[in-house]
Amino acid sequence: MPKKPIFLIFLGPPMSGKGTQAARLSRLLGIPQVSSGDLFRDNIKNQTSLGREAKAYMDRGDLVPDEITIGMVAERLSRPDCADGALLDGFPRTIPQAEELDRILEELGASLSGVLAVNVPEEVLVERASGRRICPVCGRTYHLTFNPPEQGSICDVDGGELYQRDDDLPETVRQRLAVYQEQTSPLVSFYRDRGLLREINGDQPIDDVAKDISGVVMSL
Ligand code: ADP
Ligand code: AMP
Repeated sequence: MPKKPIFLIFLGPPMSGKGTQAARLSRLLGIPQVSSGDLFRDNIKNQTSLGREAKAYMDRGDLVPDEITIGMVAERLSRPDCADGALLDGFPRTIPQAEELDRILEELGASLSGVLAVNVPEEVLVERASGRRICPVCGRTYHLTFNPPEQGSICDVDGGELYQRDDDLPETVRQRLAVYQEQTSPLVSFYRDRGLLREINGDQPIDDVAKDISGVVMSL
């Protein structure tokens, strides 16, 4: 019998560690991490019209409108490398996105396997933001204190010079946290009501969070 694809959502506020954990689980399970934020940043880098449209919202710390976001993610999920599933990082972020995701998966003959809600207290999120650094070449995420590169400020994998995201500056981070509370946090009860939510304590060392996530994923 063919294996059922695994579609998992990483749900949590900015800085909760969704990207860090999705990248690890992706290597473990051999299914792609689909990060809507990375897709937008790729579009900005490649100067596409979608990237130009999204940038103004991202710079303010606001959500990019659903019409733009949903089409971009639907296209990504329809590619052959998602045939065995995908780890959704940062999508959905609104109820309409969640409803559309159900339809997208149905069209692919799949369904959601589960939603990992990564919980971290707000004061910890703010502290994490100031130290986050990204590799411009491979997109890998580091933290100056909690997950530093082996040498200086260059990527362990490809030697890329790490940079700080424009939207990780304190004022934008505060706006992103407010937007999460207002527009994304309703998804917690949306998925709890459907019996899909699994709560993860994200306020632990990265390896411990990863172990908890593996345990939950094995039990799905
Ligand atoms: P998100 O994708 O949810 O915005 P990231 O995975 O980019 O979050 O993590 C935000 C920052 O916090 C990064 O600098 C990352 O290295 C760091 N980080 C991730 N998980 C932990 C953790 N469990 N403890 C401490 N720092 C973490
Ligand atoms: P992230 O990389 O997940 O922190 O996302 C960075 C920014 O991209 C967010 O602050 C939003 O402006 C935009 N973005 C990412 N994912 C979405 C989404 N699902 N819906 C709307 N905007 C998004």
